[in-house]
Amino acid sequence: MKAVRRFTVRAHLPEPLRALGTLATNLRWTWHPPTQDLFASISPRAWATVKGDPLRLLGEVRAERLEQLARDENFLSQTRALDDDLRRYLTEQRWYQRRQEELGDLPAAVAYFSMEFGVTEALPNYSGGLGVLAGDHLKACSDLGVPLVAVGLLYRSGYFRQSLSPDGWQVEHYPLIDPRALPLEQLTDAEGAPVLVRVAMPRGRVLRARIWQARVGRVPLLLLDTDLPENEPELRGITDRLYGGDQDHRIQQEILAGIGGMRAVRAYCQLTGHPQPEVFHTNEGHAGFLGLERIRELTEQEGLDFDQTLAAVRAGTVFTTHTPVPAGIDRYRVDMVRHYFGDGGDHDLLPGVSTRRVLALGAEDNPNMFNMANMGLRLAQRANGVSQLHGRVLRDMFRGQWPGFDAEEVPITSVTNGVHGPTWSAREINRLFGDADSALEHASRLRGVEPITDALLWEIRCTLRERLVAEVRRRLRDAWLHRGASELELDWTESVFDPDVLTIGFARRVPTYKRLTLMLRDPDRLRSILLDPDRPVQLVVAGKSHPADEGGKALIQQVVRFADDPEVRHRIVFLPGYDMSLARYLYWGCDVWLNNPLRPLEACGTSGMKAALNGGLNLSVRDGWWDEFQDGRNGWSIPTADGVTDPRRRDDLEASALYRLLTDEVTPLFYERREDGVPTRWMSMVRHTLTTLGPRVQASRMVREYVEGCYLPAARSAGTMSADDYRGAREVAGFRSRVEAAWPEVRVLDSDLSYDGESVPLLGAEVTVTSRVELAGLTDEDVMVQAVVGRVDEDGELHEVVTADMRRTEDGSFRGEVVLPHAGATGYTVRVLPRHGLLTEPAELGLVVLAG
Ligand SMILES: *Cc1c(COP(=O)(O)O)cnc(C)c1O
Repeated sequence: MKAVRRFTVRAHLPEPLRALGTLATNLRWTWHPPTQDLFASISPRAWATVKGDPLRLLGEVRAERLEQLARDENFLSQTRALDDDLRRYLTEQRWYQRRQEELGDLPAAVAYFSMEFGVTEALPNYSGGLGVLAGDHLKACSDLGVPLVAVGLLYRSGYFRQSLSPDGWQVEHYPLIDPRALPLEQLTDAEGAPVLVRVAMPRGRVLRARIWQARVGRVPLLLLDTDLPENEPELRGITDRLYGGDQDHRIQQEILAGIGGMRAVRAYCQLTGHPQPEVFHTNEGHAGFLGLERIRELTEQEGLDFDQTLAAVRAGTVFTTHTPVPAGIDRYRVDMVRHYFGDGGDHDLLPGVSTRRVLALGAEDNPNMFNMANMGLRLAQRANGVSQLHGRVLRDMFRGQWPGFDAEEVPITSVTNGVHGPTWSAREINRLFGDADSALEHASRLRGVEPITDALLWEIRCTLRERLVAEVRRRLRDAWLHRGASELELDWTESVFDPDVLTIGFARRVPTYKRLTLMLRDPDRLRSILLDPDRPVQLVVAGKSHPADEGGKALIQQVVRFADDPEVRHRIVFLPGYDMSLARYLYWGCDVWLNNPLRPLEACGTSGMKAALNGGLNLSVRDGWWDEFQDGRNGWSIPTADGVTDPRRRDDLEASALYRLLTDEVTPLFYERREDGVPTRWMSMVRHTLTTLGPRVQASRMVREYVEGCYLPAARSAGTMSADDYRGAREVAGFRSRVEAAWPEVRVLDSDLSYDGESVPLLGAEVTVTSRVELAGLTDEDVMVQAVVGRVDEDGELHEVVTADMRRTEDGSFRGEVVLPHAGATGYTVRVLPRHGLLTEPAELGLVVLAG
């Protein structure tokens, strides 16, 4: 494989400095301060102009300086040491390899699909939280040694850069990105020719994409790019922008990411000898078409029918959804999907795969729509949300797909998101725990914070706040210049914010549910909080609105107008251009991180975790991750008016709760000082946050949960399905069709509950349930007959149930014993479920027959 960029770099890099090329192109530098320091030392000034991007730096530095460094023994030995360190990092045994020795059947490789990746601002390929999470996932996988191959698209204009018009309206810019200027290499074959992925498009056209590879530590990230002269002009633009364009554009991108992405992973593994993945992780429904390409592969290579391939594909697929509301789900018109997949005419996107069956996978209530989340669930045996609360929301939201089951039984679990510690915590904090090399060590060393004094911790917090204040002033000035102000009228920006004032941050994308403007609900109240003479507060706000969301832009404008007011502008700012580089200053420097979404619409939220890693205290609605991680000592929970349906009233109630918390609890605690100026009680919350939340919010914790709870069982299931010429897949498919055919006739004919002794049974007594069941040709081995007992409400609904398996008795009926779990009104029922050793959950096939 040839490094496209290396040509440029090599031309300028004297031989002794060759290793700099490697260090600059492997993105591990983004979380490795010693490597950053090495580049900074080449030219601190240029380092600042290129915003800390090593590759750009090498392009900027003058040849004489490089010649000089090539003779500088000290610099050369540092470079060698870092090069050796990187090599060691890339090859040594890490956590995954050790676990593999213990467990033996971890997957040889995992493929990870996502429409966006936020690894670094030097590779702007993300819009917000979803992408940054994917980036953190890759970094943690790298640190842990997880053999992951990631795949997505390379957007020629990334998302967009944000600036403000004079009247505070969001303005979008789409800078064109030259992949050759990015830390990417083109994937080429043995002859040096670019590897192209091909995907069939309607009207006999072929879409081609080349593959750019980024190296995220140990993890290869493959990005598909359609901007090729060989492509028809319309098709060339498919990878132009992230989340831009119409439905057609979007489905083309998703077809490319899923189907083309799968082909890219195959090509990459073949060329490089990387093991082929056994497990396929779909990060959000957008990339879900990958499962269809795998169905095509198996149909073609193994001669399996659709149902058999589906069983095999499901076993190895993990689907993570981040959406808590139906409105957030990607849906397409059925005729559009048919258009792209082919409908029996000349065009066939996936030869051998029936478009009718594809459409059934995405079916939903509306027969005209194709639902990507439903397809994701049907193509994956394991599905999860991204916090415990979100898992509950999802089980409720998708329960329609499992009729007859209670929400708790819906087979969707949760893995709470995490963030990559070495990326997001400030050096000063990292240093406290020793320079942690990996997220894993980082997590464990955070526990060592106890002997560090309050005074030292406070000093660090003050340094970080000061750094943020300087950055706020710099960016505010730039923003005003951009809005058309003259240098002469901007002196005031030099004194906005105060390094000693309690600093609150609020930064996120601006969909309505995040309620950017909740803080403005009562502008006078906010003004008085900001301007309090004894206990002032300063508020830094940032966020991007989707370009098509005029409502979101109006919210931004409201904040900007409020913050423009000369009376308060030294205490509140809106900073345009929210991205990873701005985010870092905010997470480092804010004392309090504010989050006030409309509960429960925040699937997880991760910015508060990043603040916590730096000793920031969260002030948040109990939504997403905070609902399970808040403990009363690591921050404050804003009470919510759940159930109040009038949104204005709800905002009023929650805003006033927020103001009250700020004035009665947060501010007094921050300004309560010892003689030496240290806020002791505040610092005990900071310490508690660092020591207890620090390890739990790590992406390394999240990735270990994915590995042990999802990837490992998926690899096992997939292995069972494919062994012996796909015997398992054939069996499951045969079982499924037999059961589905018989199911309409399966009945619980009658049932009875009996107990010994007393006329009213006692709590804890054992009762016997008997029932006669019509199995319609299925055998006792095919089904599970269960007694279900629980509390019964006025509508006859059962709650808090316990279940007991029933067995066939001599007289042909089924019988089981249950210990009564509750006192009071109790009910029972009997149900029949399909049973097969290769199903993971009783509800997996969505089939159940209930008594009555
Ligand atoms: C972490 C992060 C996000 C996500 O934050 P949420 O709390 O999930 O809204 C968005 N953008 C950037 C740049 C981030 O670093």
